[in-house]
Amino acid sequence: MKVDCLIVGAGPAGSIAAKEMASRGYDVLVVEKKQEIGPPKRCAEGITKHGLENLGIELHPLCISGRIKGAALYSPSGKKVTMEGEQMEGYVVERKIFEKWLASEAIKAGAKYMVKTQAMGMERINGKWKVKIKSIDGLQEVEAKLVIGADGVESKVGRWAGLNTVNKITDYHSGIQFEMANVKINEKYIHLFFGRDVAPLGYAWIFPKAFSANVGLGILEKGAKMKAYDYLIKFIEEHEDIFKNAQPIEINGGGVPVAHFTEMVADGVMLVGDAAQLVNPIHGGGITRAIHSSIMAVEVADKALKKGDVSKEVLKEYERMWDEEYGEKTKKLMKLRAFLEKLEDKDFELLADVLQGEDIYALTQAKLSFLIKKIVTKPALLGLAKKYLMD
Ligand SMILES: Cc1cc2nc3c(=O)[nH]c(=O)nc-3n(C[C@H](O)[C@H](O)[C@H](O)COP(=O)(O)OP(=O)(O)OC[C@H]3O[C@@H](n4cnc5c(N)ncnc54)[C@H](O)[C@@H]3O)c2cc1C
Repeated sequence: MKVDCLIVGAGPAGSIAAKEMASRGYDVLVVEKKQEIGPPKRCAEGITKHGLENLGIELHPLCISGRIKGAALYSPSGKKVTMEGEQMEGYVVERKIFEKWLASEAIKAGAKYMVKTQAMGMERINGKWKVKIKSIDGLQEVEAKLVIGADGVESKVGRWAGLNTVNKITDYHSGIQFEMANVKINEKYIHLFFGRDVAPLGYAWIFPKAFSANVGLGILEKGAKMKAYDYLIKFIEEHEDIFKNAQPIEINGGGVPVAHFTEMVADGVMLVGDAAQLVNPIHGGGITRAIHSSIMAVEVADKALKKGDVSKEVLKEYERMWDEEYGEKTKKLMKLRAFLEKLEDKDFELLADVLQGEDIYALTQAKLSFLIKKIVTKPALLGLAKKYLMD
C-alpha cells in the first residue's frame, strides 16, 4: 500500500488530522489498533464551548451528554468557589460517539480507516517511511511520504522516528475514574475537589452526564501515600450525600502527560495531541489542544508535501507555530503547577478565601498576576509565591 499520509491512531487528534489532510485532496490512511473507535475512554469528557468554537467545530448533538454552565471548586474543608460565565460554558461529551463522529467526518472527506490495525514499527528507506501494520488480514507494509503520530500518551511513532518523547515520571498524572449512575449533584456544573488527602498534587472531579457522571481523580505518585484507585474509593466513601446508592457502570484510567518537553517532528514525521504531550499542565485537559495541534500540523504538512520536501527543517514550522501560540502560556502554567504542588491543605483554605471564580479562570489562562495580587494579602503564601511565581 502507498499513501501520501499515514495517521497512527484514531483519537481526536488523528481523526481531525485525517479530515484536514483528506479535504486537501491527499491520500490518507488511518490505522487504529482498537477494534472500535472510541471506547474504552480515558477521559472525563469535559470540553469548553469556546474552545471548540475557536477551532471551528460544531458538535453533532448526539455527541453531547451534558451541558455545563460553570465549575464548582471545593477546598479540603469544603469551602466552595464557583466559576461561571461564557468562558466556562461547556459540554460533557459522550466520547465513544464523539470519536466515531470525528472519524465519520474524516471518512466523508475521503480518508480511509482500518480498525483493529496496529502500527508495529517503521523504517526510513529512500526518503519514505515503510510502516509495518498488523490487521486481521495479517502483517502488511504501508509506504508513506508522511507519518502523523496521533497515537496518544504511549506514543511509539516518535520513538521509532528517533525523537526524545519521554518525560520525567513526575510529569505524568495517574488518572482513575468510574462512570457512575445515580450520582446526586448539581448537573449544571463540573465539580473539582482539592486537598492532599483527596488527590495529592492533583484533584478529584465529578463531571455530570445525561444519566450518569464521570467520577475520578488524577494524582502525582510522588505526593501519594496510596494508589490512585484507593484515593477514589475513599473520596466516594467520604461523600455519602453525593454517592449514596450510586454505582459504577464503567471503570477506566490512564496517564496524563502534564508537561510538554517532547520534540514534535522528524524527517517525514509529525506528532500531534497526547503523542506530543500537549495537554494543559494545570487541569490536564487535552482534547482541544490535540485538535488544534492537528490543524496546525496539517497546515505545515500541506505546504511541505506541495514542495516535495518533508524534511525535519521544513516540518519544524509546526513546532514554531505551536510555540508561538502556547509556548509562553505553557511556561507560566508550569510555574503555577510548581507553586500549587507545594501547597498544603491550609494554603488551599487561604486561597479559597481570597480567590473568586474569575480569578481562577484567569489562572487557567496563565494570567498569574491575578493570583499574585491576591496572595500579597496572605503573608503565609507570599514566600512560595516569590519562589515559584515571581521572576
Ligand atoms: C483520566 C483522564 C481524564 C481526562 N479528562 C479530560 C477531559 O475531561 N477533557 C479533556 O479535554 N481531556 C481530558 N483528558 C485528556 C484527553 O483524554 C487526551 O488529551 C486526548 O484523548 C488526546 O487525544 P489524542 O487523539 O491525542 O490521543 P488519544 O485519544 O489517546 O488517541 C490515541 C489513539 O491511538 C491509538 N493507538 C495507539 N497506538 C497505536 C498503534 N501503534 N497503532 C494504531 N493505533 C494506535 C489508540 O488506541 C487511541 O485510539 C483526560 C485524560 C485522562 C487519562
